[in-house]
Amino acid sequence: MNQNICNRRTFLTATTLAGVSAVFLKQCLAQSVSVAQEKEAMKLSFRPYELKLNHPFTLATSSRTATPGVQLEIEFGGKIGYGEAALPPYLGESAESVLAFLKRIDLTMFSSPFETEDILGYVDKITENNTAAKAAVDIALHDLIGKLLGVPCYQLLGLSPKQIPPTTFTISIAQPDVIRTQTQEAAGKFKILKVKLGRDNDKDIIETIRSVTDLPLIVDVNQGWKNKHFALDNIYWLKEKGIVMVEQPLPKSWWEEAGWLTERSPLPVFADESVQRISDVMKIKGYFSGINIKLMKCTGMREAWKMINLARVCHLGVMLGCMTETSCAIAAAVHLSSAADFVDLDGNLLISNDLFQGIRLENGRQLPTDLSGLGISKIEQ
Ligand code: MG
Repeated sequence: MNQNICNRRTFLTATTLAGVSAVFLKQCLAQSVSVAQEKEAMKLSFRPYELKLNHPFTLATSSRTATPGVQLEIEFGGKIGYGEAALPPYLGESAESVLAFLKRIDLTMFSSPFETEDILGYVDKITENNTAAKAAVDIALHDLIGKLLGVPCYQLLGLSPKQIPPTTFTISIAQPDVIRTQTQEAAGKFKILKVKLGRDNDKDIIETIRSVTDLPLIVDVNQGWKNKHFALDNIYWLKEKGIVMVEQPLPKSWWEEAGWLTERSPLPVFADESVQRISDVMKIKGYFSGINIKLMKCTGMREAWKMINLARVCHLGVMLGCMTETSCAIAAAVHLSSAADFVDLDGNLLISNDLFQGIRLENGRQLPTDLSGLGISKIEQ
């Protein structure tokens, strides 16, 4: 604290002293004003940024070559926290809706980013949805807090990167020769792969991958199977092919069918589209073996961490997933990922115009740096 600054106690004491000079009073008043002016507000800025995909991304229901996004910064105490909203169309948010949401945020009512629970509670109440926009604010706050304290985000949560499981890498649905080439390339770098099923050629795709590698595989059906008996037969066949987990096999609202399937399935069945936020976690028990948590679905790191802990209380497995994202949002999930059973954080590896560096792929694992906050830095464009 600057000893020359006239604080409130000095000022009150001074004013009660008989004979105090008018000059001294004037100095104190001037200094009080300057202290008030020094109180710093968090500065929020943001801009749209489109992510370009290395290969067309094909799901059971759609295909695309780019993902809209919004990059966000919060500045405070001489540091900048980075955040990001990634906006695949099926989530229902757009760059326009995120920008409109972010313009409504007023951080001047908070004295510092350390009021995290209050800030994020206020942001969450602005609208019911906009989860990716909220995640952008949450991620930037965590980056900023880590930088202000000089520690990596995983340390803020008491986690160690030594425990981070290998990430899956998603093989795109394509012609068999393209699948073979992609699988060959991926098998040299990754310890576990993921493939999207749910169309009419599921078994052909698995056989094509198995002609190249015996690596463990996760399959993500993206709600693509429309009959529980068909789903169960498929899962038995997949188990014989070395698949280790099935993600969202049935439509997200088919709770009874999901419970029936999970009870009989020889493989763990995880919910993705059926679970979004912490209020959904309790509902999952009895219907699925585990949940896929994504920062863009659940409003960010803080709620994701709460969901992980609640899932554990409910004896549910945990997967940490992502959208196509820059290394900013991927880093945010990577810092949480030692608490997960399955890690699916390949989003930054699927784009050609990343804005950040700081995540390294090592022996099939996505690892953070030990720098403060998210441990990322901007790539010079
Ligand atoms: Mg999924």
